[in-house]
Amino acid sequence: MRKLTREELKAENAMRLVQPMTHPGTVRQSPPDIITRGEGSFIWDVDGHRLVDGVGGLWCTNLGFGRREIRDAIVAQLDELPFYNTFRGATHPRAIELAQRVVRLMAADGVGAVHFSSGGSDAVEGALKLARQYWKVLGQRDRTKFISLRRGYHGVHFGGASVNGNTPFRRAYEPLLPGCFHVDTPWLYRNPYTQDPQELGRICAELLEREIVFQGPDTVAAFIAEPIQGAGGFITPPAEYFQIVEKIVRNHGGIFISDEVQTAWGRTGGKWFDIEHYGVIPDVITSAKGLGNGCPIGLTVATPEVAAGVTGLTISTFGGNPIATTAAKAVLDFIEQENLLANAAETGAYLRGKLEELRDKHPIIGDVRGMGLMQALELVEDRQSKAPAVRATAELMEAARRNGLLIGKGGTYGNCIRISPPLNISKSDVDECARLLDLSLMMVAC
Ligand code: PMP
Repeated sequence: MRKLTREELKAENAMRLVQPMTHPGTVRQSPPDIITRGEGSFIWDVDGHRLVDGVGGLWCTNLGFGRREIRDAIVAQLDELPFYNTFRGATHPRAIELAQRVVRLMAADGVGAVHFSSGGSDAVEGALKLARQYWKVLGQRDRTKFISLRRGYHGVHFGGASVNGNTPFRRAYEPLLPGCFHVDTPWLYRNPYTQDPQELGRICAELLEREIVFQGPDTVAAFIAEPIQGAGGFITPPAEYFQIVEKIVRNHGGIFISDEVQTAWGRTGGKWFDIEHYGVIPDVITSAKGLGNGCPIGLTVATPEVAAGVTGLTISTFGGNPIATTAAKAVLDFIEQENLLANAAETGAYLRGKLEELRDKHPIIGDVRGMGLMQALELVEDRQSKAPAVRATAELMEAARRNGLLIGKGGTYGNCIRISPPLNISKSDVDECARLLDLSLMMVAC
């Protein structure tokens, strides 16, 4: 099949392809950018405009574009063995190697089971099923319920959608799975309780405990949460929240699932998994996105204890395929060799400083939050009322795009700008990013 020309691509754009999270009518009125090329932290659209990739390819291209090492590893694997499955009776070297590697990266006391799948929603589904299966194997058949956080996002399958904590992601698909309950997120910027982070952490942890007790602890299978809520708008809990939560979940015997689809592999700086920042070891971690630097891969990892409940985890034909596992291995090598965990911490702090300078200058910025290279701005009509500046956020995105910066819009009220550049972005590229953002904020303020 021949490649379409630039004109043909533009004529065909938004005509047939269903785009996630946007109504087809809106897409037709304002067709999406056609991205044709990437290099380092930059991408080019079909008209040749260069843009800073401020969202790291939706948290997937954590190492930026044109990584020779990853490309070479994939090409060699294509020649050697492009596909084999990991169903009963067969496996292949790259899946074995990556599973071993992930085990070593997780907690010091090791991990018992790794299951590969095709993306984040699969990974979450695998974790939820594992939790239910675990309790059945142990003879506690009533432990079927899931508790999760309001504002959380856990993917598109029915299990994940049922534990999602944002109404727009649930509404169209209801009725969802019975036995899923949601408790308040410790969101410092917007909560009815307190402006003291420690107190908020304690209050929200207590709300979780009350819900567990109300449901009956022996009916709860698992608590699932993102350590930083990605789709919710990079809502970052107070430091002690997950420490208290871990104790509560342990006391009541449930399983703690840390959904790290966005936050793993160094995104939040200094650690492989974000939950490590809290000194907490979950029972299960789910991840995807940045692991393959764009190659579709999801994974669910469980501690040895929970792994004992695995009787043949959920199925995935493409899960752990040789190309995706090869890419993931090359990604992990690259992160180690280039010391990117440290870079994400250092450059993340630098980016944060720049965003705080912008907050001091632009009253529309109500909050700056996040960790490492995962930072968000929440835009408000005025700082007193904190009314979400939804239109201005859309205008800012558009202005930034025209100025050469691609940033992500989202958050609970659609008034957050999410900035997550590649982990190897340089400080000078961060400067460029901040300059373009400043320029775009000035344009929106006029
Ligand atoms: N969990 C979290 C925390 C996510 O951010 C996402 C994707 N945004 C998912 C699950 C679902 O992942 P995917 O889109 O790869 O299915």
